[in-house]
Amino acid sequence: MVVWGLRITTFITNMAVIVAFGVLYTWLQQGHSEDKFVVRWRPWLQIAALWTVLIIFHFASVWGRAEAVTPVGYGWNYLNFQAAAMVYALLSGRNRRLLWSLIILMTLWYHFLADVPLSMWPPIAALTIITMALGNRFWTPLGDHWYYYAPYTLVFIAPLMYANWISIKNIDVGLLWQFGTLFATIACLGALHRMLVNRKVREVRLVREGQIDDLTRLHNFRMFDADLNKAYQDMLLTGAKIALFTFDIDHFKRINDRYGHLVGNTVLETVARRLDEITANTDYTVKTYRTGGEEFTFMLFDITVDFDRSAQFARLIKDEMAKLHFTTAKGETFSITISLGEDHSRYDDQNYLDVYNRADKYLYDSKNHGRNTITLCGVTID
Ligand code: GH3
Ligand code: MG
Ligand code: MG
Repeated sequence: MVVWGLRITTFITNMAVIVAFGVLYTWLQQGHSEDKFVVRWRPWLQIAALWTVLIIFHFASVWGRAEAVTPVGYGWNYLNFQAAAMVYALLSGRNRRLLWSLIILMTLWYHFLADVPLSMWPPIAALTIITMALGNRFWTPLGDHWYYYAPYTLVFIAPLMYANWISIKNIDVGLLWQFGTLFATIACLGALHRMLVNRKVREVRLVREGQIDDLTRLHNFRMFDADLNKAYQDMLLTGAKIALFTFDIDHFKRINDRYGHLVGNTVLETVARRLDEITANTDYTVKTYRTGGEEFTFMLFDITVDFDRSAQFARLIKDEMAKLHFTTAKGETFSITISLGEDHSRYDDQNYLDVYNRADKYLYDSKNHGRNTITLCGVTID
């Protein structure tokens, strides 16, 4: 005789526990770089979370059996959830310590709890261990699609169920119910896993898109502002200075007016790509930005102040931009020039924007000297 009320309430309670476990486990997995404690202890916190639910289900099973009208086979209700929780953890990310803890646990389980004959348990345990090791090694793509996740779970669960089946000695436990709830649990956890992973991917993409300029794919002004601020804080802490170069295309409006806005866009894209190519070849950490319509900025981080090196770098940029040749659909050709300003951060700067304001002023000094010109630290050359 089966008490349906007890089975259904047990199932619902277990489902709530395992969903909470899934959310907690993924939260630990995706761990938050600002939360040093989680980052440092992540593998152990994950082991603790998994073992906690396994132990909860174990004792719920023992106590549930003691109170159930038909105690035999009742433990199966919990075994389903324990297996699903282990699969969830194994496919959430690589964690060797977790894997080892499960290898020990499963070996002990087969040996003592499942009550499988001595000739049987070592090969079954070996199968489970191999399945677990493969799952943890290939957690992606196995965890990425339901058509991997579901079969993997079934392969993992099959020997467990077989051992359990032997140990309860063919007593009727309502196989339809057991397998039905097993499938429901797997489907639910698989969906939860996908949902949490997709959400994280979207979040990362959104943050990134918020830092990138759509047209040129350089960093945008928002990122520039944040980086400049951080560089200023770093200078106050460690004394590391930056060199900030900013340049603007000369008479860009004429290009738009003569050849059209789309050609203007192509010029901006080409300038951005060339800027990235040139700055990639320096010994310093460099970051490039589109700081205005046709204004570009790049920063060298942690520099020693050196006027000659700055002059060399600025000339290189100016010359390379002048070497770019553009051809319109109608076959017209043209090239561009730029005006550039540069300065480095100073220990007596009062605000993180001071260095940018100086470089920007020098850019306009270059414009006022007839364009196609460089001004470094207030000195106009070329
Ligand atoms: P100057 O030498 O003094 O810098 O002259 P300029 O014509 O380059 O400067 P101005 O500021 O007068 O004009 C900048 C032009 O850049 C005006 C604006 O329409 C154009 N612009 C801004 N953003 C874009 C863009 O994304 N695409 C295109 N095609 N043009 C843009
Ligand atoms: Mg301009
Ligand atoms: Mg401009």
